[in-house]
Amino acid sequence: MPILSRRAAVGGLLAGGAVAVAGWRAEAQVARRQVVATTGMIADVLRQVGGNRIEVRGLMAAGVDPHSYRQTRSDIALMTRADLVAWHGLYLEAQMESFLETLGKRKPVVALGEAVPKADRLAHDEYADRFDPHVWMDPRLWRHVALAARDALARLDPAGTETYAANAARHIGELDALATYADRVLASVPATRRILVTAHDAFNYFGRAHGYAVQGIQGISTESEAGLKRVQELVDLLVQKQITAVFIETSVADRNVRALIEGAASRGQKVVIGGELFSDAMGADGTYEGTYIGMIDHNATVVARALGGEAPERGMSGRLSTPVVIR
Ligand code: ZN
Repeated sequence: MPILSRRAAVGGLLAGGAVAVAGWRAEAQVARRQVVATTGMIADVLRQVGGNRIEVRGLMAAGVDPHSYRQTRSDIALMTRADLVAWHGLYLEAQMESFLETLGKRKPVVALGEAVPKADRLAHDEYADRFDPHVWMDPRLWRHVALAARDALARLDPAGTETYAANAARHIGELDALATYADRVLASVPATRRILVTAHDAFNYFGRAHGYAVQGIQGISTESEAGLKRVQELVDLLVQKQITAVFIETSVADRNVRALIEGAASRGQKVVIGGELFSDAMGADGTYEGTYIGMIDHNATVVARALGGEAPERGMSGRLSTPVVIR
């Protein structure tokens, strides 16, 4: 009996130890909160602000169009397990909206893009009661999103409040530097050449921030097809304004842009593809362009160089990795 008791006691100790270790492990996992983000830009801002305290999974990879993206079964599983789900909102993820609204009744779901104040938003071209969702195109507006990420993470993990505040402040400093760089290189383009023609209307905030006229072949959403009439209008514009470069987008098929170039050529106006812009999706994971800062640096640098302005070939930080001008 005494031996048995002793064994029981030792067993009890061991079991207690095992429970303690398992408890510690569970705690370590809980401490690194699981966050799921829809677009790459939303995933990036959460990584910037969350640092090591959170683990972020982005649903939409490089080149994916958020206007038409619908959640997959594995996305649903990830979102169901996550501690926090963050999306852009402003009707960007049109096909995911009802799913996310339903999910929001059961767990924290936050639309970070909607932190941009209404007074700073642009109207939508098709819906009177909606706004243009492409707010990330102006890095000065993106600070609101960084602050909303800070607040959402602090609500989820109050112990990290100070870390999130410090990270958000640092990132906002980087956003300010980015905005200053974009202002400078885009202002170096001669005023008469500040016309940006792209595959869809993702650049209205860019246009407002930097004083560019912007024309998309498709509208604010990629859902509606561009008509022949719209292509013809833009060919007229290219010829009239002597525009020599138009831009393709990584998340939109380029056939409409090529139709413009052919249309202009048939009227004696040589137009080239000025480069590939990151409109609604960032570059590949692990590249500089796969970060928000890299994406906007790339766009500003490519546009400035293609339209006759001055910008360093490798961008603000010397890290641009893709060819900046496609001739
Ligand atoms: Zn778009």
